[in-house]
Amino acid sequence: MTRFATRKPEYLPKAYYNIKADLEEPPPPPLHPGTKQPLDPKDLEVIFPKGFIAHEISVEREVPIPGEVLEAYAQFRPTPLVYASGLKKYLETPADIFYKYEGVSPTGSHKSNTALVQAYLAAREGVRTLTTETGAGQWGSALAHAGALFGLEVKVFMVRASYRQKPGRKTLMKLFGATVEESPSPLTESGRVFYEKDPDHPGSLGIAISEAVELALKNQGSAKYCLGSVLDSVLMHQTVIGQEAIRQMDELGARPDLVVGCVGGGSNFSGLSFPYVRMRIKDKAAIRFLAVEPDACPSLTKGELRYDHGDASGLTPLLWMYTLGMGFVPPPIHAGGLRYHGMAPLVSHLVDKGIVEARAVAQPEVFEAARVFLRTEGILPAPESAHAVAAVIEEALAARKEGRKRTILFNLSGHGFLDMSAYENNGKSR
Ligand SMILES: *Cc1c(COP(=O)(O)O)cnc(C)c1O
Repeated sequence: MTRFATRKPEYLPKAYYNIKADLEEPPPPPLHPGTKQPLDPKDLEVIFPKGFIAHEISVEREVPIPGEVLEAYAQFRPTPLVYASGLKKYLETPADIFYKYEGVSPTGSHKSNTALVQAYLAAREGVRTLTTETGAGQWGSALAHAGALFGLEVKVFMVRASYRQKPGRKTLMKLFGATVEESPSPLTESGRVFYEKDPDHPGSLGIAISEAVELALKNQGSAKYCLGSVLDSVLMHQTVIGQEAIRQMDELGARPDLVVGCVGGGSNFSGLSFPYVRMRIKDKAAIRFLAVEPDACPSLTKGELRYDHGDASGLTPLLWMYTLGMGFVPPPIHAGGLRYHGMAPLVSHLVDKGIVEARAVAQPEVFEAARVFLRTEGILPAPESAHAVAAVIEEALAARKEGRKRTILFNLSGHGFLDMSAYENNGKSR
């Protein structure tokens, strides 16, 4: 087996794949937080750029990628598709394991795929400032990079637990020219509620989202808010990953029977898997899909499927999703990007329909998987991505036990070279 698929420029798709065009039954719509009625897209205009809303509500199967964004993608896309021969050998498994490596993006994760198009769409309609939250810092740095590229000011609320654990990410955002605040902060009403009770409050993505949304609402006209996951359009932007993977796997003459990704809000998992979900829906392809979450923040495996707010203060629309409740503050585990109380409505829907399976893994197992992957494949995974690696190792060992050949494809959503403090202290926060 060839170790790498090629990265031919023509493998980069010209359009995003919108799974909503292929769902038999659409998921329940988002509701207005005040009236509890289905949301009018116009209501979103106070928060989001109009071009972004158009992506969010589109039901076209293919949504064209703007030329300027394609040019920005070409700096790092197509990303590598790698045959994990080292890992296979170490595990002595009959399973063939492949991964799509998103760590080659400018800030080291898949988040640039949506950051670049969101910044482009905002800049095109005259927005001057983007506000956002970040957990581990990958999203904040991806948006800081995209803002710098398209000439926008970027303000980031960073979850305090990560701000303190990952000073490298904060520095990177500042180098890109972004402003970074520890969240909960005293700067917004949403943050102050938590900050005044405890200035060392570890924070959560939900709280940081409230702060960033509030700032955009208070600066209407010049500022808009950007979200790095969860929403339909963000998942759609990530489908460049799976579309490339299909072409690269074809080149290697392989077809996965299991597609795996870690899930925080659900975007990298969806980006790789949705083009394959289409094959399962349309052609009845025998492919399993596995979403992997931390057992410390188990929205899919322990949460409830119901309407809930996307943030912690009830400012955002109500989304139909698996949720631990908007008040849930996850323990400060090292995979900051997976500390979110909810889950993308589209992923929630596919889990509910039995198309996507969910599994929770524990932090020690995740760090062990990262170590094994580093030693066998030479890449240190982001702690988030290591959740996918842990599940892949379990599946590959199950294949060995059954003596069955299988083809596993997973998303290595980012590298962990800015997460050294997490690896140094591994396990200590649990
Ligand atoms: C943000 C992040 C995640 C989790 O977010 P999703 O939207 O579920 O993809 C996973 N891996 C990395 C590297 C991230 O930066």
